Amino acid sequence: MKQKVIIVGTGLAGLASAVRLMNKGYEVVMLDKFHQAGGRLNQLKKEGYTFDMAPTFFSMSYEFDELLKDCNLSPLFQFQELNPLYHVYFRGSRKHYKLFREPEKLAQEFKEIEPDFERKFKKYMEESGELFHDTIDKIVKRNFDNFYAYVWALMSVPPKHLPKLMRTFWQEVERHFDSNEVKEIISLVSFFLGGTPFNTPAIYTLLSYTEFMHDGYHNVKGGMYEIVEGLVRHLKEKGVTFHFNTEIVTFEVTNSGTLESLIDQNGTSWKADLFVINSDAALFRGKVFNRPAFSEKKLNSKQWTMAPFTMYVGIEGKLDQLGQHNYFLGNNFKEYANKVYTSDFKTDKPYYYVNIPSKNNTNAAPADGEALFFLCPVPDLRMIPDWSNKEQFGNEIIRDFEQITGQVISDKIRTKTIVAPDEWETTFNLYKGSGLGLGHTLKQMAWFRPKNVDEKFKNVFYTGASTVPGTGLPMAMISAKLTVNQIVKSYGSLS
Ligand SMILES: Cc1cc2nc3c(=O)[nH]c(=O)nc-3n(C[C@H](O)[C@H](O)[C@H](O)COP(=O)(O)OP(=O)(O)OC[C@H]3O[C@@H](n4cnc5c(N)ncnc54)[C@H](O)[C@@H]3O)c2cc1C
Repeated sequence: MKQKVIIVGTGLAGLASAVRLMNKGYEVVMLDKFHQAGGRLNQLKKEGYTFDMAPTFFSMSYEFDELLKDCNLSPLFQFQELNPLYHVYFRGSRKHYKLFREPEKLAQEFKEIEPDFERKFKKYMEESGELFHDTIDKIVKRNFDNFYAYVWALMSVPPKHLPKLMRTFWQEVERHFDSNEVKEIISLVSFFLGGTPFNTPAIYTLLSYTEFMHDGYHNVKGGMYEIVEGLVRHLKEKGVTFHFNTEIVTFEVTNSGTLESLIDQNGTSWKADLFVINSDAALFRGKVFNRPAFSEKKLNSKQWTMAPFTMYVGIEGKLDQLGQHNYFLGNNFKEYANKVYTSDFKTDKPYYYVNIPSKNNTNAAPADGEALFFLCPVPDLRMIPDWSNKEQFGNEIIRDFEQITGQVISDKIRTKTIVAPDEWETTFNLYKGSGLGLGHTLKQMAWFRPKNVDEKFKNVFYTGASTVPGTGLPMAMISAKLTVNQIVKSYGSLS
C-alpha cells in the first residue's frame, strides 16, 4: 500500500528528499509558504535581470551526482567548475588576489607576501585532507542511534586530529601561514558556514581541502536556479503536487502519538501517513509543535549563524576587470569579525561578497548590462532588529565597492532590490534572520544537532540546514539522504 508523505518546505533538502522518497515508492505532496520552489536556493527576476537570491556556488558536487545515481536519473542540470575559485580585494589596495586551485599558481599570487607559500599550503592541505577523509563518513555523513554510538565514532577518528577540537579555525591557520592577507583569505570559508574564523572550531579546516583540492567549487550552467527547476520538473513528471503560499502554523495529533495532520494559515488540514519537515528543524519544533526544549528562550540561547544583508543590482555597462565571485575585505579583519556578531556592529566600512552571474550566464542581464548580487554578513535580529536604514547601508556598500574597484556604478543602476535580515526572517522562516540556520559549534553538531527523527511523533522527520549534518547545498543533499534512510529504516522501501 502507498504511504503518503507531506513535505513542508521546497528547499533543496525538501526537493532532494522528495526525489528519493518517490524512488522508494512513496507518494509525495509538497507545501511551501513562499510562492515558488527552492527555499533559500531561489531566484529573483527584475526588469530584464536575473539573480540567484542566495547560494551562488557550492562544493562537493558529487553529492548531486549521488542523488542521480541512487535514483537512476539522467542529469537534470549541468555543473561548471570554477578556477579561479574567487577573487579577493582589500580596501586601500588596487592589488587583488585570484584563488587558483593549483598550489603553484596560488604561490605566484602570494609570492610578495608569503614566502615559501607552496610548501606551507601543501602541508596545510595534507592535514585538512586527512581530517576530511578520516571524518566525512564516520562523523559527517551519518546518523547516530545513541550518544554512545557517537562517542564510539569519535574514538575511531585518529587521535592526531584531537588538537583541532581545542583550537579555532584562526588558530589553526595561524600555525601554517604568516601574512595576514593569506590567513584572512584561507579562513574566509568559515564565513560560508555562517561563522567567523574566531568562533568556528578548527575541525572545519577540512573545508579548505574541499574548496581547493578535493572537488573545488561549482556553478550551474544557466544559473543556480536550474537545480531547482530540474528537480521540480522531474518531481512533477513523477506526479508530485506542489502547493505554494501555504504556511503550516499548527497541527493535530492522534491518540497513539502519531501526527495526523498539519494545519496551514487558512485552517486547511493536510493529512498524511508521514511528514518531512524541511522548515528549520529547531524553529519548527518550537513554534509549531510548542516543544519546551525549543522554547523561545531556548532558541534564543543557541548560537545562530549570521544574517544576510543582500542587494540585487542591475546596471548598464560591463565590469570587465571583475571575476564572477569577489570578496571585499577591509584592514581590520579580527576587529570586524569579532563585532559582526554583536550589537556593536557598524554599517560603515563593511566586508562583503559580490557575485556577477552575468559573467557566465548571458541570460542574467541584457547584452549591455551586468547583474550584481551583494551579500554582507551582519548580526542577526537579536542584535540589530531595525533595518529601516537599509537603503543607506546599501549605498554605503556601493560607495565602498566603487572606491576599491575604481568602477563607478551608482549612476548606471537600472534596478535595485534590497533584502534585509528582517525580510529573510519572514520570507523563509529563518530564526531572527539567521541565513544559514543553527551555528556549527561543537555543542550543535552531529549528535547534538536537532535530530532528523522527531522525539515524540514516530511519523515525523526533519531535513535541511538546522538538522544533521549542517548547512550549505552539499549538506542539504546529504541531509535528504540521511532522512530518507531513516524513513526507509522505519517504514521500508515500497518500490
Ligand atoms: C544569503 C545566503 C547565501 C548562501 N550562499 C550559499 C552558497 O553560495 N553555497 C552554499 O552551498 N550554500 C549557501 N547558502 C546556504 C544554503 O542556501 C542553505 O544551506 C540551503 O539552501 C538550505 O536548504 P534547506 O532545504 O535546508 O532550507 P530552505 O532553503 O530554507 O528551505 C526551507 C523551505 O521551507 C519553507 N518553510 C519554512 N517554514 C515553513 C512553514 N511553516 N510552512 C511551509 N513552508 C515553510 C521555506 O519557505 C523554504 O522554502 C546561502 C544561504 C544564504 C541565506
